[in-house]
Amino acid sequence: MLVADQIVATQEIRDYVRDVSLREDPILAELRALTANLPAGAAMQVMAEEAQLLALLINLSGATSVLEIGTFTGYSTLCMARALPPGGTVVTCDISARWPAIAMDYWKRAKVDGRIDVRIGDARQTLAALADERGPGSFDFAFIDADKAGYGAYFEAALTLVRPGGLIVVDNTLFFGRVVDPAAQDADTVAIRALNASLRDDPRVDISLLTMADGITLARKR
Ligand code: CA
Repeated sequence: MLVADQIVATQEIRDYVRDVSLREDPILAELRALTANLPAGAAMQVMAEEAQLLALLINLSGATSVLEIGTFTGYSTLCMARALPPGGTVVTCDISARWPAIAMDYWKRAKVDGRIDVRIGDARQTLAALADERGPGSFDFAFIDADKAGYGAYFEAALTLVRPGGLIVVDNTLFFGRVVDPAAQDADTVAIRALNASLRDDPRVDISLLTMADGITLARKR
């Protein structure tokens, strides 16, 4: 008897899903290929399917002001910037200027560079500065995909910066399955587990943890 349950996403299923649903244009495909050749690039890069979901969520929510914590080579930044209506902006934060410098060529080719504001530095400081500069509730949408040990701090900052009704998307919330491995006690895994556990009953947000990609948590600010 069939029982409703999470499908196991075998390689065959993943290939099928890509075949029938992924829309990755040549600019994005080129950026993906280049990033995959960087140190840890293949692991740090957002999955194409996930970036497509981010764009859809921006379209659905009508967001015009997007905050991204963790630019890396700007694939997700590009997808989110493209999804914005005219006048929309993405503020994207990274600890290093090296990766966003690679992204800029691709943003220019996609003609979205004018919508993207890059802030380099420790995101805790960048987010505090944004709160001073723009005030709380000044963003419609936030995507968190940076150092995992900082997730608790980034989530709290994002919750302040996003308006009521706005959406926070957190990447890697299953962290390669390490969240369920008791032997995994590194700072990154511990921080993700702590965030997941705290969101379970956090009255400030409505949530859904998607088992897509490496785990994607959606948190809508009440
Ligand atoms: Ca990620």
